[in-house]
Amino acid sequence: MEYSCHTLIVGGGITGLTIARELIEEGVENIAIIEKENSLGAHASGRNSGVLHAGIYYSPGTYKAKFCVEGNRLMKEYCREKELTLKETGKVIVADQSRQDALYDLKKRADQSGAQSTIIDRNELLELEPYAAPSEKALYSPNTAVINPKQILASIREELEGTRKVRFLFGTSFLGIRDSTIAITNQGSIRFEKFINAAGSFADKVAHSFGVGSQYKVLPFKGTYKKLVQERSYLVRGNIYPVPDLRNPFLGVHFTRGVHEDVYIGPTAIPALGREEYGMLNDLSIETLSLLARDFVLLFTNEGFRAAAVSETKKYFKKYMLAEAKKLLPELKMEDIEDTPKVGIRPQLVDWKSKKLVMDFILLKDGDSLHILNAISPAFTCSMAFAKHVVKEF
Ligand SMILES: Cc1cc2nc3c(=O)[nH]c(=O)nc-3n(C[C@H](O)[C@H](O)[C@H](O)COP(=O)(O)OP(=O)(O)OC[C@H]3O[C@@H](n4cnc5c(N)ncnc54)[C@H](O)[C@@H]3O)c2cc1C
Repeated sequence: MEYSCHTLIVGGGITGLTIARELIEEGVENIAIIEKENSLGAHASGRNSGVLHAGIYYSPGTYKAKFCVEGNRLMKEYCREKELTLKETGKVIVADQSRQDALYDLKKRADQSGAQSTIIDRNELLELEPYAAPSEKALYSPNTAVINPKQILASIREELEGTRKVRFLFGTSFLGIRDSTIAITNQGSIRFEKFINAAGSFADKVAHSFGVGSQYKVLPFKGTYKKLVQERSYLVRGNIYPVPDLRNPFLGVHFTRGVHEDVYIGPTAIPALGREEYGMLNDLSIETLSLLARDFVLLFTNEGFRAAAVSETKKYFKKYMLAEAKKLLPELKMEDIEDTPKVGIRPQLVDWKSKKLVMDFILLKDGDSLHILNAISPAFTCSMAFAKHVVKEF
């Protein structure tokens, strides 16, 4: 294949698709999206919790804080316009007595980001979620909602193809770069004027092939889910979350009633052995050893990572997961929980110079190429607002 385009996007996840949409708005005509899989949503964008977050947790000034509230609004508007599934279920964040102060800290963060939230008392909490741990106070987020991520991807794809300005090249992997303007793929070369790296868990590698972002390395974390058995799914009406440890980017074990009414518990955030290692051992590669080495170094150098790795790894065990989940839902019993095949991988970026987990999205511009790294949760929620920013920056 010899192909040329104005803008080449690597990665057909929500980041790549929403950026393509914005490029068209800006008048760009000839866009190619290369996707190494044969369909959309094979990775994070099709394997997430499907929650439109409301923008409560994020440090002021970060991309997450800037784009979550607006992204939530835009994605809801899109779902309504296209008649896609949208359930505006809301969310409560509960805290035991020792963490009641943390609710007020979260409320402050939410206010700073313009996210709507209210401190509610026990009676109000139990009216919303009758089986939640009856904490004295809780935080209520009315704008949290659930959507069907794959349905949204399919809809945006249809919209993009309808413009005839975007071409999807499936089964096409970016392998490297030649003369700054030619991408080498397994299907031949593609000449481009502008390049956008939205390659999710491989975004660090794609950036490195441009000589960009060498201090950043992905460390994958596996998110597995359990589910409430159907007869007990009445225990959760919407979303019940704990107060997270804000030192790490994970939200702790929580309950989410999805669009198909199943109530999921999770996801975990367990160090994974591969960037796409969804089973136990079926994606072990030569990289597994270097990923283990990265885990090992961080265990000794990063206290937050050590705490998360220890507590998260325990969640492989149903008994520990139950203990965590019971803090939110005291009535829960072992027989109420069943396994599910649902699993995703979070490609968490580490700044290898400081040995710190990167908390925000990273945008690196180098000439005519732009690299989006660490598009982790809530990147699905933020995507439509973030894409506007990315295109403006370009
Ligand atoms: C378990 C879990 C739960 C989550 N829950 C939520 C949630 O509830 N709400 C929320 O807002 N966010 C959530 N997220 C985060 C969200 O899903 C991601 O941040 C978002 O989907 C990232 O989108 P992306 O397009 O950047 O990456 P991806 O969806 O991973 O897309 C990148 C694409 O690039 C392709 N690719 C990679 N390398 C190459 C290459 N060399 N050549 C060609 N193609 C390539 C991949 O095949 C992939 O399809 C969750 C994530 C996980 C893992």
